[in-house]
Amino acid sequence: KTRVYRFGNKTADGNRSMKNLLGGKGANLAEMSAIGIPVPPGFTITTEVCTEYNELGREAVIALIKDEVEQAVASIESQMGATFGDKDNPLLISVRSGARVSMPGMMDTVLNLGINDEVVQGLAKRTNNELFAWDSYRRFIQMYGGVVLGMKPESKDDIDPFEEIMEHLKHKRGIELDTQFTVQDLKDLVYDFKDAVKKRIGKDFPTNPWDQLWGSVMAVFNSWNGDRAVYYRTMHGYPADWGTAVNVQAMVYGNMGDNSGTGVCFTRDAGTGENVFNGEYLINAQGEDVVSGVRTPQQITKLGSQRWAVLATIDEQERFEKYPSLEELMPEIYNELNEYQEILEKHYRNMQDMEFTIQDGKLWILQTRNGKRTGAAMVKIAMDLLKEGMITEKEALLLMEPNKLDELLHPVFDTAALKRAHVIAQGLPASPGAATGKIVFFADEAAKFKNSILVRIETSPEDLEGMNIAKGILTARGGMTSHAAVVARGMGKCCISGAGALKINYKARTLTVGDKEYHEGDWISLNGSTGNIIEGKVATMEPELSGEFAELMILADKHADMKVRANADTPNDARVARNFGAQGIGLTRTEHMFFEVDRIKAMREMILSDTVKGRKQALEDLLPMQRSDFEGIFEVMEGCAVTIRLLDPPLHEFVPHQLATQKELADEMHISLQAVKNKVAELEEFNPMLGHRGCRLGNTYPEITEMQTRAIIEAALNLKERGIVTKPEIMVPLVGTVKEFEFQKNIIVNTANAIFEERNETLEYSVGTMIEVPRATLIADLIAEKADFFSFGTNDLTQMTFGYSRDDASKFLPIYIEKGILKVDPFEQIDQEGVGQLVKIGTERGRSVKPDLKVGICGEHGGEPTSIEFFYNTGIDYVSCSPYRVPIARLVAAQAAI
Ligand code: ADP
Ligand code: MG
Ligand code: MG
Repeated sequence: KTRVYRFGNKTADGNRSMKNLLGGKGANLAEMSAIGIPVPPGFTITTEVCTEYNELGREAVIALIKDEVEQAVASIESQMGATFGDKDNPLLISVRSGARVSMPGMMDTVLNLGINDEVVQGLAKRTNNELFAWDSYRRFIQMYGGVVLGMKPESKDDIDPFEEIMEHLKHKRGIELDTQFTVQDLKDLVYDFKDAVKKRIGKDFPTNPWDQLWGSVMAVFNSWNGDRAVYYRTMHGYPADWGTAVNVQAMVYGNMGDNSGTGVCFTRDAGTGENVFNGEYLINAQGEDVVSGVRTPQQITKLGSQRWAVLATIDEQERFEKYPSLEELMPEIYNELNEYQEILEKHYRNMQDMEFTIQDGKLWILQTRNGKRTGAAMVKIAMDLLKEGMITEKEALLLMEPNKLDELLHPVFDTAALKRAHVIAQGLPASPGAATGKIVFFADEAAKFKNSILVRIETSPEDLEGMNIAKGILTARGGMTSHAAVVARGMGKCCISGAGALKINYKARTLTVGDKEYHEGDWISLNGSTGNIIEGKVATMEPELSGEFAELMILADKHADMKVRANADTPNDARVARNFGAQGIGLTRTEHMFFEVDRIKAMREMILSDTVKGRKQALEDLLPMQRSDFEGIFEVMEGCAVTIRLLDPPLHEFVPHQLATQKELADEMHISLQAVKNKVAELEEFNPMLGHRGCRLGNTYPEITEMQTRAIIEAALNLKERGIVTKPEIMVPLVGTVKEFEFQKNIIVNTANAIFEERNETLEYSVGTMIEVPRATLIADLIAEKADFFSFGTNDLTQMTFGYSRDDASKFLPIYIEKGILKVDPFEQIDQEGVGQLVKIGTERGRSVKPDLKVGICGEHGGEPTSIEFFYNTGIDYVSCSPYRVPIARLVAAQAAI
């Protein structure tokens, strides 16, 4: 088999489709070479060799590829007319990493390889440029030392050992920039660098070019298993066996003087998506100089340069003299570059991010790839490419990274402000968005400041109102499906959960991170998209739902055949959902309606009463409130199906746990404080999640189901009177046996019939069930005989199938994921292997008796891309997710169908 693929001189062994084998960089270098873009010649050692290296080790792998590599180097030599290691006419090369996906900054590259004390003389003579030759040598020792010999800072707060030497010299010489070094300075640096290496590793710096080459190749392989790369890989779920390719390529020199330079450019604006060519470059520079910030880079285009001057607040004259654009400084090179960027964008049919180098007036392209971009840019670029006729509708949809749409749906931080931000800790990005406010520690004090951030160890349903008032929510405990997280996502409110580094002291009203202490009223900011917790205020901007975004959604619906509904508990949620294109409500959690202040009292009275009569009395008070809620939701969702789930909370969540509130309640109900306390204790459960909840509640207290049914049916009838079409779907939660469902259904049907009789009017409605207890999936055929529809509650189903309490899982899930026991959090992505099977079985068995049984998904997975795709392939009719994820789900539904 071939282990080395060559490219250069307008030909190549590989091409762009071979990313898995050649890595992204290698595949695109081959492709560019083949279509005639000037790429320095070179070759790619495949990712398979990386895997072989991990198994066989260094010597065995060198033996495997030695011949191929030597021949490929010879081929570069003949194309460049120079010889590797030659004293008079030396060829220098770069050794570049390149995995199949781009992992920016995660792996290593060595430039100017093949140089030593003799070669540097030859290079100087040959180019008649001593400064350049010694600068290249100095750079090589620095990079090789760092990457291959491990000359890195010894601790986190140390500076780079080579940088330290350079800083020292700069200080001594009273200069600021690398470009100000003299030949003698560079010679001194090379000497001092080598000395430092010898001191630290006890060996001489390798002088043999071939030793240098093999050393670098192995170092690149090793970098695949380096800490940074492993972290990045795990974060994105890239498997370890992908490996990295190694690209070896002839050097082109951007550091040869004022007629040379290097830069990066984008075919479109990666921030906004605007169709403007843009980028940055530096004269007399090499490699990473542009991005590393050693000097202020200049703009590629004149337009960009002028825009930049405004930001930098310098006038036109100064701009032109000190920071001219490439377009102004080297118009011919600029025109050529502009030509290539157009060719490459057309060729790849996507926005490109390119690297280039100018060597003594000649332009070389060193890399191209699909550019990373913001959510806004992603949408605009795809829709523009579609309009320009470059891509098809389906291709435009597939260009979308669904989760990135999130950025368009919530307020966002100002990008410039974010760069200066001081991040104090990180938690889970539970609900995206940007929030800035003053710290409060208690929900009922959220209104204390105009903008507040609610900081809690964890939140409870009693905090709902405060959560709604606060600009953002930060918790020290809890995962992605913790109370705080779910509620916040539903509200579209920024939330960071499970930030374990936070020490919260309610009594002292302090938040401590490390040795820093924050107090109530201190400003903090939350970046809900990254999980970053930032000290102080950060400016935000309102999101713009641009025209392209709406167009994209229309396109998505055109290609999707799975429906998308929303989870909404209030008319307001429903309105948001409908605006985002929800085709129905898949889940209304009626218990959330009871948490509001004036209602929770009636609710508590109901729970605390010992008699049916007492309960009925309290329910009477609740009926009109529920009815008006349902009317509101039905009205917003006119013509669409609305699934309402009957009450499903553990009862103890409703009773007050604080003494003051208990007293208040006792007074109001004219019972003793002790009676309240007794009831609270009585309701306390060992395992509330497996306790007295769901249909178990409705079956033990049928009057609750009666009241809720009445509220739903009466609301629908009231709207019918006003000529508004409703499609109520009443859903029974937590069913595990057929009888459980039948009992509830009887109550519902009897209540509805009674109302129809009272009002002499009827209405169509359906009665279905949540499938969330594993047992229900197994007897789904029996349940389907009685139920009109199924909706999988995948949160509970996951919880019960794994036996993981989702409110306690944050204690062990992160460790499980870190250790690789679990690949991902199953509350975030549906576990296709296990829980997914139950979804499949439940659907199949249900449809075996009712072929057209409507099956939906409610639960957090309904808004998660990989899960949505799985549900689509399982034949689910619709997914239901929080309103703010509806556009994402619509997009994924389209992608799944393509
Ligand atoms: P990364 O993947 O981190 O971007 P690269 O392999 O692209 O690393 O290399 C880092 C820098 O070195 C880039 O700016 C690249 O353009 C430059 N570079 C790499 N190979 C060469 C070469 N043969 N000649 C000149 N510059 C090079
Ligand atoms: Mg690069
Ligand atoms: Mg449930």
